[in-house]
Amino acid sequence: MIYADNAATTKMSSLAIDTMVKYMNECYGNPSSLYEVGQRAKDVLEEARGRVAQCLGASIKEIYFTSGGSEADNQAIISAARLGLKKGKKHIVSTAFEHHAVLHTLEKLKKEGFEITLLDVHSDGLVRTDEVAAAIREDTALVTVMYANNEIGTIQPIREIGAVCRQKGVLFHTDAVQAAGHIHINVIDDNIDMLSLSAHKFHGPKGVGVLYAGKGIYLENIINGGAQERGKRAGTENVPGIASAAAALEEACRNIDEYQSRLTPLRDRLIDGLDKIEYSQLNGDRINRLASNVNFCFEGIEGESLLLLLDDKGICASSGSACTSGSLDPSHVLLAIGRPHEVAHGSLRISLGEEATTEDVDYIIKSVTEVVTYLRNMSPFWKDLEAGRRPHLFAK
Ligand SMILES: *Cc1c(COP(=O)(O)O)cnc(C)c1O
Repeated sequence: MIYADNAATTKMSSLAIDTMVKYMNECYGNPSSLYEVGQRAKDVLEEARGRVAQCLGASIKEIYFTSGGSEADNQAIISAARLGLKKGKKHIVSTAFEHHAVLHTLEKLKKEGFEITLLDVHSDGLVRTDEVAAAIREDTALVTVMYANNEIGTIQPIREIGAVCRQKGVLFHTDAVQAAGHIHINVIDDNIDMLSLSAHKFHGPKGVGVLYAGKGIYLENIINGGAQERGKRAGTENVPGIASAAAALEEACRNIDEYQSRLTPLRDRLIDGLDKIEYSQLNGDRINRLASNVNFCFEGIEGESLLLLLDDKGICASSGSACTSGSLDPSHVLLAIGRPHEVAHGSLRISLGEEATTEDVDYIIKSVTEVVTYLRNMSPFWKDLEAGRRPHLFAK
């Protein structure tokens, strides 16, 4: 079996599992309890916080643990919106291809009277910094732009966007869930005010996320109750999960250069191989993309059947994101980069893991080529294209 859906989730590393089991066994106390067993848990929690801070170039008091990337996104955006409202600011700038954790939060704020500008991401899947600058108004409360896209893997000019926000005095949040542990991030150098990440995207456990919020940045509670996380996120802390997440992040950050130099040639080999399939096109910029991510559209192919047949061949991949499969809507990300509806249904996302080999990549190329040919031969839509009754959308 080749697991090539690492953008959906990753296998936990041995270190992450060992750390989790160790603290499940040894550290069952409640960090809020004053006796020693509790205080030991508190020490583990704070040590993990320090490690996460160090990985991001942040300070320990700027790190808040959450239940995942979605919660961190929700809290960052809602906090900035509430603060904005107090200052009479009711405008938020974001992009059309954010994760639904961001888009659906923005939709909710829109119903409450906020004005949302969703920037175009162009056909290369990249946001333009000058367009972010032009969209910022006197009443802009927040700019939120993802670091790397979860479907097409494109990496955004975060440092430049952050600089523009600083210059204009607007809060800047980035959903860095796909980027953390995969590319170097430093919240100071990158001019980031708030950042979200999620442990299960870098070989940590599911259900643990982090919200970084720079010193003095207002946070509003999403989960109300006890005074955990300096009063900003109630609920007894998931100490073993948090310790495991910190270990996984440290491990991933330590290995970023090696990971990138190993995966980039494999990714490019896969892109070259799939590019040979006629009437196919890579989605997103070829260079400015995560080392793990390949995303293609094939004319005349329906994504779900492609995935099922690849599954028969032992390949786990995805069409669009895991969160939207099961719905028949075409991917909002592919529509955002200007793919027509017909081909936005026919996409394939392959997200390689660090254990991927050249043989795996060649097997994926061979299998996808076979499956695409097989499906096209059965498709009346494809016959129309071939007979010239419909125009092809891509060059051969
Ligand atoms: C996975 C993902 C999320 C959601 O994170 P969870 O921990 O699963 O809630 C948010 N944003 C992006 C870009 C993601 O890839």
